[in-house]
Amino acid sequence: MTRDRTEALRAAIVREADLPAALMEICGSHTMAISRLGLRSLLPDSIRLISGPGCPVCVTEISYIDHAVALSRRPGTIIATYGDLVRVPGSGSSLEKERASGADVRIVYSAMQALDMARDNPDRQVIFCGIGFETTTPATAVLIQTADEQSMDNLTVLCAHKRMKPAMKALLDAGTKIDGFLCPGHVSVITGMGLYEEICRDYPVACTVAGFEAEDILLGILSLMRSIRSGKNRVRNAYPRAVSREGNPKARGIVDEVFESCDAVWRGLGTISGSGMAVRDRYVGFDAVRKFDIRVEAGKDPAGCRCGEILRGLCEPAECPLFGGRCTPENPVGACMVSSEGTCAAWYTYGGRDGRG
Ligand code: SF4
Repeated sequence: MTRDRTEALRAAIVREADLPAALMEICGSHTMAISRLGLRSLLPDSIRLISGPGCPVCVTEISYIDHAVALSRRPGTIIATYGDLVRVPGSGSSLEKERASGADVRIVYSAMQALDMARDNPDRQVIFCGIGFETTTPATAVLIQTADEQSMDNLTVLCAHKRMKPAMKALLDAGTKIDGFLCPGHVSVITGMGLYEEICRDYPVACTVAGFEAEDILLGILSLMRSIRSGKNRVRNAYPRAVSREGNPKARGIVDEVFESCDAVWRGLGTISGSGMAVRDRYVGFDAVRKFDIRVEAGKDPAGCRCGEILRGLCEPAECPLFGGRCTPENPVGACMVSSEGTCAAWYTYGGRDGRG
């Protein structure tokens, strides 16, 4: 983005910013980009950017980690997981610690790598940690369908996939002050714009889908401020090169075949009705929870960690007494510092409110 373009967008935002506004991004990639690009420092004080529950690793409940840890201790088990999850502390251990103690925990970059692992290790059980929002759920659905077609009996999924809309509604129902949502580009590629129409209809909040470049995000903020200032709660698309109104119905169809909605526990937000994805009975053999009868107690967040409040937009990382001291990316206490998309990691790495740290 050219300097002139940045300045033009900044000036346009300033013209719309005569009222205070709280804008929440609900996408970990936005959280990182806003900090990395120093965008807070370009905005007038009246606009407050707050981070919501958009980082998949951060919202994954501690008992899920405990469950994955317990499964990793089963003899003959291979845990296949996306990278950030291995470092998230559970109640007493993490997948990283279990790996150091001899568990077979392998990092994958796509769900289908778990299928290859299962094929290459027919005498062992491969358990894929399926986490993430509407963006990653289709890949897990395809994994299960493919394993089913190939009659594989040594591959399961420990499922904690989540849906974004119920979480947005839960935040608003809880009274969190949000004037506009900067909606996630990746999720919206799958869901389409329709996801946000009900929210704008039922709540006094504006929604704009934005991409991930500086210009995309500034355009998204400008669009939100125009909606807020006009008093019309509108769904706008500032990322039309990737997101359509319909989204990707084929991907959603595959997800619907494999999963059904269920209540889910979110770190910091508690149980949200209809916000999770459960493996349908037709594919029960691929559900790790039902195949391996391992029970774990409800976990407690680490003492002093304020991840829960951060994920609800109620406080900023620098307000946590552990931030930058006991809790750093090298030695994380809470999930928001572990993930490369976590709010605490973003503030620590790139600086906080003023963009300078
Ligand atoms: Fe939790 Fe660390 Fe963030 Fe504090 S700084 S809220 S301990 S992740």
